[in-house]
Amino acid sequence: MSIDIEDLAARIAAGERRALARGITLVESTRADHRAAAEALLDRLADPSRMALRVGLSGTPGVGKSSVIEALGLRLTGAGHRVAVLAVDPSSSRSGGSILGDKTRMERLSREARAFIRPSPAAAQLGGVARRTREAMMLCEAAGFDVVIVETVGVGQSETLVSRMTDVFLLLLAPAGGDELQGVKRGIMEIADLVLVNKADGDLAAQALRTRADYAGALRLMRARDTDPEGIPAARTISALTGDGLSEAWAEVERLAAWRRESGVTARRRAAQAGQWFEDELRAGIEALLSSDRALAARLDELRARVEAGHAAPGAAAREALDPLMRALDGAAES
Ligand code: GDP
Repeated sequence: MSIDIEDLAARIAAGERRALARGITLVESTRADHRAAAEALLDRLADPSRMALRVGLSGTPGVGKSSVIEALGLRLTGAGHRVAVLAVDPSSSRSGGSILGDKTRMERLSREARAFIRPSPAAAQLGGVARRTREAMMLCEAAGFDVVIVETVGVGQSETLVSRMTDVFLLLLAPAGGDELQGVKRGIMEIADLVLVNKADGDLAAQALRTRADYAGALRLMRARDTDPEGIPAARTISALTGDGLSEAWAEVERLAAWRRESGVTARRRAAQAGQWFEDELRAGIEALLSSDRALAARLDELRARVEAGHAAPGAAAREALDPLMRALDGAAES
């Protein structure tokens, strides 16, 4: 089946959701011909004037990510925004099923004409997820979505990855008992612009306020950056159930995004992100190169076995593995 890239690009640019979904399927594919088509498509659609507010949202399963995104998303679409939701879930390949971005989790939002929800693919490793998410984000922007929410579950490195490709990063928490911080990793606290304590309603309201105060204190101790305006990072309480605090939290997101745009932080951040993307692609290319040659792949397996058996030092073995490549590069440079 050949793909009419010209036509697909035109339909994505016109904001057609089915075309957008097809485009994302294309960038998710690992088939070589699909890859080439995906790159042609991205090239056609590259349009720096179409840039969304990119928001990362992270939280452990059950804190209310999909409830919050749905409640927030409905408000935003109601106000005329076009909202895309993408999921980054590196755990889905292990568990055999995705626990994020599932349409059934945001049923009302998924029925909104101005919303687009894309679950996490059953993708392989984090590297593949990163490329797919960046490219899917570009396609959403090209399709005219002005808010892109990238949702991720609090596992491994996924939140660092998401914070590196978004403008504002939100950490969602549930009310905790006692004065115990919820074992949130320091690294995640450091990248959070806003900590949102969800479920601040009913019996949990008082606990949510205490949790908010604990985190506000922890954030103050942890971070004061010149890339942040006064009052950021902040901790707030919200309720996806009642809607309390959602408008205020979103206003804070917009205020922060505007401040970063006007102070040049966003431009610097996006330039650094593009540089990082380039490096990631280079690294992925080198890895693909290493595994594409059968003899070389066999040699790598053999060296790895020697390292694992303690017969070779890892550094020396890696250099030995790279030696033929280095020599090939030398030859190319001379000719
Ligand atoms: P996710 O796994 O992080 O996406 O969490 P969900 O959005 O699926 O929510 C997990 C559970 O918490 C569900 O039973 C929700 O109904 C409930 N929940 C989500 N938000 C709120 C809230 O603001 N207040 C209360 N009381 N329950 C909530």
